[in-house]
Amino acid sequence: SFEIIFVGRSNVGKSSLLRELFGAKVRVGKRPGVTLRPAHIQISDLLITDMPGFGFMSGVKDRKQDIIKDKTVHYIEDNAERIKLGVLVIDGPALPQIVDRWDSRNQIPIDVEMFDFLREVGIDTIIAANKMDKVKENEYDPLLDEIAFWLGLEPPWQNWKHIIAPISAKKGDLKALKGLLRDRLHEMKRDDLF
Ligand code: GDP
Repeated sequence: SFEIIFVGRSNVGKSSLLRELFGAKVRVGKRPGVTLRPAHIQISDLLITDMPGFGFMSGVKDRKQDIIKDKTVHYIEDNAERIKLGVLVIDGPALPQIVDRWDSRNQIPIDVEMFDFLREVGIDTIIAANKMDKVKENEYDPLLDEIAFWLGLEPPWQNWKHIIAPISAKKGDLKALKGLLRDRLHEMKRDDLF
């Protein structure tokens, strides 16, 4: 069987995105950080996995954040063979501030860390840069260049359109991501999904 995992910090819009992509089959009414276990959607032999949101959450203890991160890492390691694709959802417009904050403490942002980790274990990973509806037209390309840079993908971001998909789950603008998912599923000989 094939598995696609969706990962991301809490509040990046992962639930909104999954709802747009797969309908109401995903978890609803969750409080951030409360759910520790991955949620699954099974579409014939394809397993879609919604990993718990990681990173800072107000009202959730640091210890719990570590547990979520560890569990995510273990889940991915344990199932790496079956996981054919990762979708890392990030909050596009928020990423530069997040990176600055971590960089000033000499730490790697959890988003970047997760991207590196997924690729290290051999999982092809798409970056879904969400909330791009918040970005002004003249800031759009510079922001995506900055995101690419921080992910270790040398700008211009257009060179990485097979990896970076700017989207807006809120506006239902998922063209770029659906295109990439379609390409990957085609490679897996699964043309029936999108
Ligand atoms: P999750 O914690 O990653 O599952 O995030 P949610 O889907 O619960 O969304 C978190 C917040 O971001 C909510 O207030 C959403 O309305 C908002 N949001 C999600 N996607 C978008 C988007 O594309 N654009 C904007 N502007 N807001 C979004």
